[in-house]
Amino acid sequence: MSDSTKKGKTPYQGQRRVFGHFQCPGCNRGWMSGNSWANTGQMCNRCDIMVYPHQQKPLERVAGDEDKCDRNISHPQELCGKCQRLGYPCTKLRR
Ligand SMILES: [Zn+2]
Ligand SMILES: [Zn+2]
Repeated sequence: MSDSTKKGKTPYQGQRRVFGHFQCPGCNRGWMSGNSWANTGQMCNRCDIMVYPHQQKPLERVAGDEDKCDRNISHPQELCGKCQRLGYPCTKLRR
């Protein structure tokens, strides 16, 4: 926890939005999110702990439908570390 901020908390260390695989160490629940970011976790809504993705992949571009998809998928802002830090939904970021 007291690791220097230079060390990454996530496999991906770039600036873009990526696809993250999460697994909560508390309840073992797994989930995926198309709004995953470097050094940013999402809260497990059962355990109330921050979970960092163990695997991250670049988002696959779906022939120009990426934006449409993003807006239609409901994104739990209260559970997302990126939204919390920004103060607005990270789905609004265009990257
Ligand atoms: Zn959990
Ligand atoms: Zn978010």
